[in-house]
Amino acid sequence: MSSHESRSVDPATLEMLEKAASDGVKTAFERADDVRPCNFGSEGRCCRNCSMGPCRISSKKEAEARGVCGATVDTIAARNFARMVAAGAAAHSDHGRAVAETFIAAAKGEAPGYGIKDVQKLLQVALDFGVEIGDRPVEDIALEIGEKALEQFGQQEGELVYVKKAPLNRQKIWRELGVVPRGIDREVVESMHRTHMGVDQDYENILLQATRTALADGWGGSMIATDLQDIMFGTPVPILGRVNLGVLKEDQVNIIIHGHEPLLSEMIVYAAQDPEMVALAQSKGAKGINVAGICCTANEILMRHGVPLAGNFLQQELAIVTGAVEAMVVDVQCIMQSLPDVAQCYHTKIITTSPKAKIPGATHIQFDEHDALSSAKQIVKAAVENFPNRGANVKIPKYEVDLVAGFSHETIDYLLGGTFRASYRPLNDNIINGRIRGIAGVVGCNNPRVKHDEIHTTLVKELIKNDVIVLQTGCSAMACAKEGLLTPEAASKFAGGGLAEVCETVGIPPVLHMGSCVDNSRILMAATAVVKEGGLGDDISDLPAAGAAPEWMSEKAVSIGQYFVASGVFTVFGATWPTTGSEKVTDLLFKGYEDIFKGKWAFEPDPYKMAKLMLDHIDKKRKALGIDKARERVLYDMAMRRELDAV
Ligand code: SF4
Ligand code: SF4
Repeated sequence: MSSHESRSVDPATLEMLEKAASDGVKTAFERADDVRPCNFGSEGRCCRNCSMGPCRISSKKEAEARGVCGATVDTIAARNFARMVAAGAAAHSDHGRAVAETFIAAAKGEAPGYGIKDVQKLLQVALDFGVEIGDRPVEDIALEIGEKALEQFGQQEGELVYVKKAPLNRQKIWRELGVVPRGIDREVVESMHRTHMGVDQDYENILLQATRTALADGWGGSMIATDLQDIMFGTPVPILGRVNLGVLKEDQVNIIIHGHEPLLSEMIVYAAQDPEMVALAQSKGAKGINVAGICCTANEILMRHGVPLAGNFLQQELAIVTGAVEAMVVDVQCIMQSLPDVAQCYHTKIITTSPKAKIPGATHIQFDEHDALSSAKQIVKAAVENFPNRGANVKIPKYEVDLVAGFSHETIDYLLGGTFRASYRPLNDNIINGRIRGIAGVVGCNNPRVKHDEIHTTLVKELIKNDVIVLQTGCSAMACAKEGLLTPEAASKFAGGGLAEVCETVGIPPVLHMGSCVDNSRILMAATAVVKEGGLGDDISDLPAAGAAPEWMSEKAVSIGQYFVASGVFTVFGATWPTTGSEKVTDLLFKGYEDIFKGKWAFEPDPYKMAKLMLDHIDKKRKALGIDKARERVLYDMAMRRELDAV
């Protein structure tokens, strides 16, 4: 038995962990053993917001214990939580800002290679932003949208435009609580201000600002990123892809694109197909150039080009361990600083491309959006020229699986109703008649503190077995794809009878891949569309729906969770929970929020118990809607019909 079997359920990962060990390479899995978490920090009981501290509040004396400034454990836990939300919202929103800037440059004709691919979505977004359409050229409409979108980041007063896309009852709750975001940057900055030493000292008030900041992410920065990317690169439609390290090719130059922003990766996909680059690769002895992705960049290029996924967050070092990767090209977010160390044992070039993210030991090739294709070609060329340096120590695990991705909110609408009757009606009807018990969003990262991919895959299997349709993004989608859950065939193999019947009728998998982390905004839009379709209540909180991030690790996950809870969704996190040190803060998030936001948090590391919590919540909502008893399908004979007519 492998000594690594407790670390992952993915055979490709286990094989590469064995190889890493024999090559003398350390990965995050071993570092997680070396660096044990500190209880004060992981429970939210440590404040280091000024130099009178760090102040660590012991759980034994928390009632009387205070930081040097007098801060209580509740204030400290709330501040830490709010700072996590602010950092997560900042990351997503800075992504959205970069997209908006390139969008404006493309509309002005100053970013060759980028343009308007989805005119229909452009017109839809124009309506959202109140941009006049008339018979104006699309470039003019795009420019005005881009400028208005960019203004959302620096807006100081009023409300973010996309707040109006939420169900009316949800907007009312936000307005009454005063948590409607005014401007994206403003909310992030105010969270940092309020959590500075000596400012906001009321944990409830701090958490309200955390909520306003999270909403600025979900209904602001992330939604802008998704929409403008769709207009520029095309709104995803179902596409066949492959996943796992087996997608790397022994006889080709392998380039891995890793990070989050598709601005660069889109261009690398084109540059790698350039005949000049392919000829260069052949001149170096390779049969061609193979591009694959890691983390959310992978999700972006899969959704639009069918480019294969090499793996999720915890597989980034292992891709290099194959010895077959000529270059790993990274932009921002979720990139491990250990990559150049791992690469030292092989020939892989780590290429950083963003001025926001440099790594000691990596090669920096600055990506210029205004001359994107030549930047991309320079990067591809560096990878190709590295091919002759590949050593003999190459081993690509022979594991790769089919998946179908590309289920944007618009595509689900189309698939359910066709071109002329695009609608969520069939989904609502099947929820009402009980074939589909409910909807779950299962998203988020990997975390080496738990067995890689196990919680994602166990939870999702349990949900679909119980007729819950699952919407996915991020590394969670990749985990389930590796398990074969993202193909239409998975319906008959893993789903309950009702869900399988619907999936087979519509021709969709029981688990729908909706994109990267910023694309969680697509799940908000899908939930809103279900509410607006009617028959399942007046708000997202009325839906038989729940969310989970079973193996989360990123601050972005906390921001995502908080905007889902504030949008009315019951949301469960696994792995660890960052406020357990404060009973009051945890109680407010886990119980009090149900009264305030009609959505709440929960923490449960066991995937079966997590599924049960979600199913219980779904059943509770079905009962409240009066759809808890599956209606019997009765064939009416003539006597019964006459009886009906007589009524
Ligand atoms: S802000 Fe207060 S609790 Fe935090 S480190 Fe400074 S003195 Fe300690
Ligand atoms: S799901 Fe988490 S680990 Fe994966 S790319 Fe997104 S933030 Fe990074």
